[in-house]
Amino acid sequence: MKLQDILARCKAEQTPSISFEFFPPKTDKGEENLWACIQELAPLNPAFVSVTYGAGGSTQSRTRRIVERIKHETALEPMAHLTCVGSTEEDLAALLSQYQASNIENILALRGDAPEGMDSFEAIKGGFAYATALTAFIHARNDFSIAVATYPEGHPESAGGVADDLKYLKIKQDNGAIAAITQYFFDNDHYYRFRDAAEKMGITIPIIPGIMPIANYAQIVRFSAMCGATVPDWLHEKLDAYADDEHATKQIGIEIATRQSQDLISNDAVGVHIYALNKSEASIAICRNL
Ligand SMILES: Cc1cc2nc3c(=O)[nH]c(=O)nc-3n(C[C@H](O)[C@H](O)[C@H](O)COP(=O)(O)OP(=O)(O)OC[C@H]3O[C@@H](n4cnc5c(N)ncnc54)[C@H](O)[C@@H]3O)c2cc1C
Repeated sequence: MKLQDILARCKAEQTPSISFEFFPPKTDKGEENLWACIQELAPLNPAFVSVTYGAGGSTQSRTRRIVERIKHETALEPMAHLTCVGSTEEDLAALLSQYQASNIENILALRGDAPEGMDSFEAIKGGFAYATALTAFIHARNDFSIAVATYPEGHPESAGGVADDLKYLKIKQDNGAIAAITQYFFDNDHYYRFRDAAEKMGITIPIIPGIMPIANYAQIVRFSAMCGATVPDWLHEKLDAYADDEHATKQIGIEIATRQSQDLISNDAVGVHIYALNKSEASIAICRNL
């Protein structure tokens, strides 16, 4: 089912769209674990589940394999992430044709990050430099439902800050995107401000908030610095007190993600996209709490 129909159904049934994000593991054992996680999360009836796309190597083919397996062996609706990294137009067209042939209907169109060992993203010859162009390319030649990424606190490379991200989100919408999924944030005001500004610019597509359940303090600080998400002082204080206690950190993560999700849903967000990261425990707890 296409994302616009999934979101329309959620609206008609007055239920929030809860979705989960996975990544393609590097090993067969990791893939087995992911599969167990998918089976644990399936009874929650997520609106859709998405699978990220790596910067190269075997995980790219794993993305396709996992997405197709979800589509054909479960009742879940998958969304395949696709990036511009290392692919020419021909490569992308071939992959999209394969997805179409296996009845995959939803694509998250991204630029992607620079592969390991490279300082910054560079488009390859015959490829695309931005997700705006990839979105237009997919929209022109295939009948996918296209979602895109967006950044309520601004993408780290956006020289003009959030204003740039809003400008490019509008172009993504004009180029065929029907929904956006945000980078995670810990202060919902970032999302509300971004959504209000988007509305004023004529951005009408749903902006689905991304929620990251914290599992490890040091890891979340490192990752947030890289992707431009602010860790507020109150959260530092809370997590610092339990930095060596993994169980307590996870419980705090669940509590914060639940509170954030409840607030977002009661303030008219279409739902939440949970960065499940191939683990089921936090996502199950958050959904039960909701
Ligand atoms: C929900 C979500 C899922 C993700 N999944 C993956 C994944 O599966 N694999 C992966 O590798 N990464 C993934 N990422 C990370 C993402 O690839 C990075 O954040 C990347 O740096 C930017 O991707 P983008 O699609 O937002 O790029 P873009 O929208 O192309 O933006 C990249 C930068 O260029 C600027 N820009 C955008 N369009 C233009 C334009 N037309 N002209 C000039 N400047 C422009 C923007 O301001 C921004 O600074 C994901 C991020 C999110 C939020």
